[in-house]
Amino acid sequence: MSISSLNTSPSNNTSINPSPSNSFASLSSKSSTTSLKEPKKSTATISIEEITSENPCLTCQSPCSIHPSYPSNLKINHEANLGGTVQPHARHIIISTGKSDWNKVIELDSGNLSAVLYEYLQKKRDNEDTKILITNSNRQNSTLPFLTFFSFFGNDILIYPDNLIVRNVSTGKVEEFYDQFLSNEINKKEIVKNEGYNFSTERIPYKAVILICGHKRRDMRCGVAGPILKNEFEKVLKEKRMDLYSMGNQGVPVYLTSHVGGHQFAGNVIVYRNGQGIWYGRVTPCHIQMIINKTVIEGKIIKELHRGSMFDDKNGQPTLDW
Ligand SMILES: [Zn+2]
Repeated sequence: MSISSLNTSPSNNTSINPSPSNSFASLSSKSSTTSLKEPKKSTATISIEEITSENPCLTCQSPCSIHPSYPSNLKINHEANLGGTVQPHARHIIISTGKSDWNKVIELDSGNLSAVLYEYLQKKRDNEDTKILITNSNRQNSTLPFLTFFSFFGNDILIYPDNLIVRNVSTGKVEEFYDQFLSNEINKKEIVKNEGYNFSTERIPYKAVILICGHKRRDMRCGVAGPILKNEFEKVLKEKRMDLYSMGNQGVPVYLTSHVGGHQFAGNVIVYRNGQGIWYGRVTPCHIQMIINKTVIEGKIIKELHRGSMFDDKNGQPTLDW
């Protein structure tokens, strides 16, 4: 398959009911960890205190006069520690759906890729320690909108930490997708140039990817906070000429994602950079400038907002190597 360029357009995805407590599907550790980077301790953390002079908004009283505020009835947990609130996972699969009104539990959204993939991963599970997080995103699929009615064309999937975009993943190709991208039999370096696959694949080209939980049918807190944060991120990225419009695929896209866990800590934001994700909670529009400057550009973890990371150790300590 050829490496195709990133043009985008919407896909279809319908949805349904509740049940799994989270979006994590277990998978054999043997099969999914062998090719992943070994976690390394990071010292690249920074405290808000150290940078308040750069951004007075960080110490301002709410409501802020410059940035939009969340409605006062949004019950955000301001007491609990954020550290260690990310469920350990070894891989994150983000399905492009071109929309954000997903049904409540995407793993049970019968007939949709999220549900078919979740079911297949459940069958493959033989070790509780290694997990794959599956989420939907509002990212547009590469396939033309009218073609996405035909499930044959499938969805784009972003895979971290592998840092891959895999296109044309349809419900009928889940087993093949698993074998080629998630099992231990594969050599990641060979994937992109391999001509024999039924998927179009390339390295994720973006400088970074911002994911914001905006799953309103799951929890109103993220449903309200998500779009407000998305607008603010897009505004600041545009001002800095770091958006996709200014930079093409070298820019930083902002996507809403389905449930990632921890609605009480809305706004929930994940910054993917160099294939690795850093999770933030209790993010407000006043934090966005700082997140872009310190995390997206400089690769530093902001202590006060940090929930955890993909390769956290058991105490929720950051183990990213930026
Ligand atoms: Zn502000």
